[in-house]
Amino acid sequence: MKHSRLQLNNPKTKIICTLGPSTNSTKIITKLIQSGMSIARLNMSHGSLESHENLIKKIREISDKLNTPIAIMIDIPGPKYRIGKLEEKQYTLKKNNTITLTSENLVGNDTIVSVQPNGIHNDIKINTSILIDDGLIKLKAIKIDGNNILCKILNNGQISEKKGVTIPGKPTSLIFPDERSIECLQFADKQNPDFIALSNITSAKDILKAKSLIKKTKNPCHIISKIERVEAVKNIDQIITVSDAVMVARGDLGVEMPIAEVPIIQKKIISLCNKNGIPVITATQMLESMIHSPTPTRAEVTDVANAIFDGTDAIMLSAETSIGQYPIQSVQVMAKIAKKTESALPYESILRDKSLQIQAKTEDSISYNACWSAYQLKAKLIVAFTESGSTAGRVSRYRPITKILTLTRRKDVQRRLTLRWGIIPIIVNELHSVEDFFSIALEQAILNVGLHPNDLLILIAGLPIGVQGGTNLLRVMKIPHSNEK
Ligand code: PEP
Repeated sequence: MKHSRLQLNNPKTKIICTLGPSTNSTKIITKLIQSGMSIARLNMSHGSLESHENLIKKIREISDKLNTPIAIMIDIPGPKYRIGKLEEKQYTLKKNNTITLTSENLVGNDTIVSVQPNGIHNDIKINTSILIDDGLIKLKAIKIDGNNILCKILNNGQISEKKGVTIPGKPTSLIFPDERSIECLQFADKQNPDFIALSNITSAKDILKAKSLIKKTKNPCHIISKIERVEAVKNIDQIITVSDAVMVARGDLGVEMPIAEVPIIQKKIISLCNKNGIPVITATQMLESMIHSPTPTRAEVTDVANAIFDGTDAIMLSAETSIGQYPIQSVQVMAKIAKKTESALPYESILRDKSLQIQAKTEDSISYNACWSAYQLKAKLIVAFTESGSTAGRVSRYRPITKILTLTRRKDVQRRLTLRWGIIPIIVNELHSVEDFFSIALEQAILNVGLHPNDLLILIAGLPIGVQGGTNLLRVMKIPHSNEK
């Protein structure tokens, strides 16, 4: 069997790249993967279904050709007010002028602009603040006349089609899923992605509604709940119970909530996900200046590092890779910051703190102790055999300093594990016995990871081998000298 190319040089923290016009060629996608991308995100707020379908095919072909697992995340827009069609590509709004926002479906200009879906006039009162494009333009409602809201422009800025329109701090009357979300969910269901990210959800109920619309997917597609609305922050405990992963979507969060609360919310959500053992992604504006510049700002570098110190599993690039001028450099910079930060993580105290989170279950105890033994014995590698991915997830949760090689028979499991901190997932043939597992683990450790005689590795699996659930075996092995049997 042809084994996957191991991404031994990638950071433990996974890198997600949003693909777009800057990154839709085979050459660039190949470079993104070689620079450290683990997951490709397709944002359905932009582009046609056809263009997304073509891109998905392309990513899968490249991933096969490079023999490197790359997961596909389809990001569903969810109900959100956006600027409708415009006569021209862009308009400049001038401070102190006025503009009318209307729920009518018309082609707008610099005096009247349609906001879709219909309904914003129901959510606005006189003096309500309205933000456009993640807060770049601020308006104030001064008159409401039926479907039309006359607004004073509070600062200069540019508008274009599809830019988000937000009413900070106010729950909107939009219900999840709207027509466009249903269309995107049905599209996603046919594409068999690894992850579906849900934007603008407010409660666990929204996630269950989305799940009922994606039943066709061959393999259980994992749901990533994007936390970006005030109600989602309030309902985070229930949302986590029905989500496979969570994204701290700081772009919208920073306009929906007072901006100074974003770092606190980020830390709380990451810590909650860590405690619950589900992966968490930190997203948006991580290296924003790299959209136009080949180097990041000091503050951006520090932001990426701090998300890793907070305990994030993955870090995400948005406009930097979708429309930016320096997509490859952005991934390279992100990987470099991640590796440097990981070298400074306090692994021992993380492990000690996490001992308080161990559940009184065999699988959890084995997974934790695999990490602790690896640390104490200075083992060079943890090898976990996983059927569904859960053994691997449990080990990743304890953030060991040691590399974690995960063997699985299923390609869908391998791709989904690309989101898990520290996991290097590879495909193996069916294992018939635990001895098969020991010999494949040794072979991989020597041939692929480059371990030497006397190096230690920690093996964990569930017996009987090949049956899902129940991690119950922990073994310490020494790499033998070539003359030993
Ligand atoms: C965000 O708001 O931070 C986010 C990730 O969502 P989107 O890119 O869809 O705005």
